[in-house]
Amino acid sequence: MKLLFIGPPGAGKGTQAARVADRLGIPHISTGDMFRHHVSTETDLGLLVDSIMKAGEYVPDEITVEMLRERVAEPDAAGGYILDGFPRTAGQVAALDGLLGEDGLDSVVVFGVDEDALVERLLARGRADDTEDTIRNRFNVYQEQTAPLLDTYGERGIVVTIDGLGDIDDVTERILKALGR
Ligand code: ADP
Repeated sequence: MKLLFIGPPGAGKGTQAARVADRLGIPHISTGDMFRHHVSTETDLGLLVDSIMKAGEYVPDEITVEMLRERVAEPDAAGGYILDGFPRTAGQVAALDGLLGEDGLDSVVVFGVDEDALVERLLARGRADDTEDTIRNRFNVYQEQTAPLLDTYGERGIVVTIDGLGDIDDVTERILKALGR
C-alpha cells in the first residue's frame, strides 16, 4: 500500500503518518525528517538545506526528488510506504508520477485543521524552524505550492480528508477506518 499524507504545518501529519505506518507494518518516509537528520549529522546536504529550512522555504526539487528516489528504492520500501511531506510541489508530483506511474498511490490522506489551532500547536512544539516568522512563511508556501496538489489528486479520486483535531489515538483510528483498515 502506498499512501501520501498531506497537511499544513502543525496538522499532526508526521505524528499520524508514523503511527499509521506502524500499524500497517510499512515504513514512514518523511522528507522533513530526512533533511533534519542531514542537518544534525552535518552532511554536505545538511549544510546546504539548513538555512532554507530555517527560513521556512522549500528545498529545491532536484535535491528533494533525488533523495526520495533513493529512499523508495531501498528494500524495506518494496511492500509500500507512507510518504509524509513529499510531494509538495507540482514538480515533485510529476517526478513521483514518473517513478510510480499516475496510479501509483492508493490514497492521499489530507488533514484539515483550523489555522489558529495550528499556530498554537507549532509554537508549543518549539522545533528549530518553529519561530513565528518561519511558521507564517511555511503557511504561505503551503498555500501557494502544496494546496494546489489537492486538486490534482482530487481529480484522480484518491483523496481522503481527515479531521486532524482531537485525541491522537482517535485521529489514528479515524484514518485507519477511512482507509478501510
Ligand atoms: P512541516 O510539515 O511542519 O512544515 P516537515 O518536517 O514536513 O514539516 O518539513 C520541514 C521543512 O523541510 C520544510 O519547511 C522544508 O524546508 C523542508 N522540506 C521537507 N519536505 C520537503 C519537500 N518535499 N520539498 C521541499 N522541501 C521540503
